Amino acid sequence: MTTAPKDQTPASYSVETELVVAGRDPARFDGFVNVPIVRGSTVLSPTVAGLEGHTGRYTYGRRGNPTVEALEQALTVIEGGAGVVLTPSGLSAVSVGLLSVLAAGDHLLMTDSAYQPTRHFCNGVLRRYGIETTYYDPLIGADIAGLIRPNTRAIFMESPGSQSFEMQDVPAIVEVARAHDIVTLIDNTWATPLFFRPHDVGVDLSIQAGTKYLSGHSDLNIGTISANARTFAQVKQTHGDLGITVAPEDAFLGSRGLRTMAVRLARHQESALTLAHWLASRPEVLHVLHPALPEHPGHALWKRDFKGASGLFSIILKPVPKAATDAFLDSLALFGLGYSWGGFESLAIPFDCSTYRTATTWEPGGPGIRLHIGLEGTDDLIADLEQGLSRLRRMAR
Ligand SMILES: *Cc1c(COP(=O)(O)O)cnc(C)c1O
Repeated sequence: MTTAPKDQTPASYSVETELVVAGRDPARFDGFVNVPIVRGSTVLSPTVAGLEGHTGRYTYGRRGNPTVEALEQALTVIEGGAGVVLTPSGLSAVSVGLLSVLAAGDHLLMTDSAYQPTRHFCNGVLRRYGIETTYYDPLIGADIAGLIRPNTRAIFMESPGSQSFEMQDVPAIVEVARAHDIVTLIDNTWATPLFFRPHDVGVDLSIQAGTKYLSGHSDLNIGTISANARTFAQVKQTHGDLGITVAPEDAFLGSRGLRTMAVRLARHQESALTLAHWLASRPEVLHVLHPALPEHPGHALWKRDFKGASGLFSIILKPVPKAATDAFLDSLALFGLGYSWGGFESLAIPFDCSTYRTATTWEPGGPGIRLHIGLEGTDDLIADLEQGLSRLRRMAR
C-alpha cells in the first residue's frame, strides 16, 4: 500500500468505514496497520534553520505526537468539525472546553441535568475566576432566551442527562444562542457522534468522555473536544497554553476502541432496549427512563435528532426501603457496582438527583437506579435482574 485508504476516496465513506480507515497511514509506518505508539518529548532537527523555522512535522512532544494526532484526525472526520483536541479525561475535556470560550466577567448557562463534576467545576474554579453560572431546566428549549444577559457568553448542554435522561431541544437552543452570538457546548458522551452529531445542528463544541464508548473496555480515561471552524483556533490555543497532553498509550487505546465502536454500540443499543422493555413490564418498576421508549417524555426529540440509543438508562422503582434496593444491588452477579460506564460489562448504581439540582426539582416517585447494559447475553442479564428483584420483594415486605 502506498497511500492511506483515506487519501484515495476522500469524503465519500459511510461512518462505519471511516471508523476503520480514518487516522491510519500504513505507508508512513512501514505497512503496519495501526499508527504505532511513539513516545517522546524531544524532537531533533537536522539544522539550526530547521529548529528556528519549525520546519519539521513535529517540534516537541507536548505540541504534537503521531499517535495522538492519529486519533485527533480520525475523530475530526467522525465528528464533522474543524478539529479535535484530546485531554486526559472526560472532565478535563469539559473544563478545557469551558475555559476556551469564557473569560472573567462572563455568564454561563448550564443545564441542571449536567454531569455532577461539571457542576463542581462551574461552582468552584469558574466562580473563583469571575465567571457566573446559572443553571437552567433541561426542558427549557427556546425559552432559554429569557435567561440570556448582556454578558452571557456560553450555553452548555448535556442530552440526555446521564442519570435522569431528559432530552434537550438542542436545535432550538442553538438557534437562540446564534441569534445572540453565544457559543454552545454539549457533553455528547451518551450518544457519541455515531448517534448524534452536534456540529450538524450548529453546536460549536462537541465534547465526549472517551472514557466511555470510545474506549469501550473500562481501561482508559480520555476526553475529546471537537470544535467547528468558528471556535477551533481558540480551543487549540487554550489547550496548548494550559499544557494539556495525552499519553501516546492512551491515544493508542482510544484509536483501537474507535475501530469497533459501531458494532459495540449497535449491540449496546439492542441489548439495552431488550432490558428496558423487560424492566418496563415488571411490577417493581415505576418508570423506565430510556429516550427510545415511546412513553419517555423526550422520545419525540430523540426520534427527530438522534440515530440511535446507547446502553445507559435508568429505572425508578416503586417506593421501597433503602435496605431493599441495597439488597437488590448487592445480589447482582453480572452488574458490577461502579461509576463510569461504556465498557463491555454491565453496571448498576443507585442515584438521587434531588441532592444537587438547583433549577428543577427531582421527585421521581421512588428510588433511582442507573444501569449500563454491557455485551453479555441478555437472557443472563434478565435472569440476574430477576433474582435481584425477587430479593427486593422479600426485603420490601
Ligand atoms: C464519565 C463522564 C464524564 C467524565 O469523564 P471522566 O473520564 O471520568 O473524567 C463527563 N461527562 C459524562 C456525561 C460522563 O458520563
